[in-house]
Amino acid sequence: AETAAAAPRMPAFDHVPLPYDGPSAAEIARKRAEYLSPSLFHFYSKPLNIVEGKRQYLYDEHGRRYLDAFAGIATVCCGHCHPDVVDAITAQARRLQHSTVLYLNHAIADFAEALASKLPGDLKVVFFTNSGTEANELAILMARLYTGSHDIISLRNSYHGNAAGTMGATAQKNWKFNVVQSGVHHAVNPDPYRGAFGSDAEKYARDVQEIIEFGTTGQVAGFISEAIQGVGGIVEVSPGYLPLAYEKVRKAGGLCIADEVQAGFARVGSHFWGFETHGVVPDIVTMAKGIGNGIPLGAVVTTPEIAQVLTRRCYFNTFGGNPLCTAGGLAVLKVLEKERLQENAFVIGSYLKDRLRGLQEKHEIIGDVRGTGFMLGVELVTDRQLKTPAREEICNAMEHMKDMGVLVGKGGFYGNVFRITPPLCFSKEDADFFVEVMDIALSKL
Ligand code: PLP
Repeated sequence: AETAAAAPRMPAFDHVPLPYDGPSAAEIARKRAEYLSPSLFHFYSKPLNIVEGKRQYLYDEHGRRYLDAFAGIATVCCGHCHPDVVDAITAQARRLQHSTVLYLNHAIADFAEALASKLPGDLKVVFFTNSGTEANELAILMARLYTGSHDIISLRNSYHGNAAGTMGATAQKNWKFNVVQSGVHHAVNPDPYRGAFGSDAEKYARDVQEIIEFGTTGQVAGFISEAIQGVGGIVEVSPGYLPLAYEKVRKAGGLCIADEVQAGFARVGSHFWGFETHGVVPDIVTMAKGIGNGIPLGAVVTTPEIAQVLTRRCYFNTFGGNPLCTAGGLAVLKVLEKERLQENAFVIGSYLKDRLRGLQEKHEIIGDVRGTGFMLGVELVTDRQLKTPAREEICNAMEHMKDMGVLVGKGGFYGNVFRITPPLCFSKEDADFFVEVMDIALSKL
């Protein structure tokens, strides 16, 4: 019971999904409609019922296999249900499923040490959280406490989370509610494709300086940015921008926060962290998603000096650093290394990007191909000159791709950008299959 659509053929994969005897998709949809938040949305007109995952593949209740080119929103870095990660979590669950920070436990300490070894400079003190939002909330709080200032600068089109502070830092109307989000200024986005100043890093950085001079007392708490905006549609900030922005923010007394929730953990291929592609060293790094291959885990890493600010009061959360999650996180780091997945993201990601550029020559609807490693974006426009977002077309293309066995994400301010962020074990055959399927889907529009 493999892919129903005739062509092209999905790469061979040696895995037999377990028999499924759970409820039907219709029954799950009914429960979801009745008992889950109405804010939840689906990508597809007929929602998929995903019952199993193995490496870069997902299976529905009929045993149909799909190539997962989204990885649970850039989350599953080692691949679904990687046996080493599963074994680490289950072994830990058998021994001790929960421990609070009131006692010693080696899982949290071991993972903190391993994580710190992946970061440059003095970035070595870890605070575990349960999500990316929570990590960014804490980073913003730390910057405010450390500097004594309140003003945060973030980039337009960014996504940093959806709690009180992070919703303020997030800069897209789609993700904002009309509640108090004080003290955040949004700088002009250094977006080479749609940005006001093209790729001119100096001009974008001047805007940061103007925000400091005209929007604050001249002192700021911090600057938060992604190296590649994920939810914002795989927008790589202009080369040369981050060093300039960091310099201006530091001169104004602020801390620089790198939001690595989506780009971190080897996804960008050339480096382990997105910020490294810009040659900067942040003061605080936040992470989630890839850190746990899909289990609820996030972290803030900072310097011993900055970490001191939290000792002024009690600061703690119940689940952060839970041994199940940290045992899983340690296994993830080992798998990334053992299977050289960063290298794979670089090699296959570069190959995939080249092939997508080839598609751009064939399909007028592709306005831009961008990104690095396994964080790639393909922006669809109905007019290349005007860059008119092809919003409906992308939905239709995604349906066609799903019918041919490929799942991919979408995003961007206009919702017209394919987000290609597969598990880092995605192979050359997968990349070829993906491109063939996208080619056919775009030809059908
Ligand atoms: N920061 C970035 C860059 C993200 O992409 C996301 C989520 O997509 C977040 C923060 C928020 O993370 P979470 O959804 O785990 O709260």
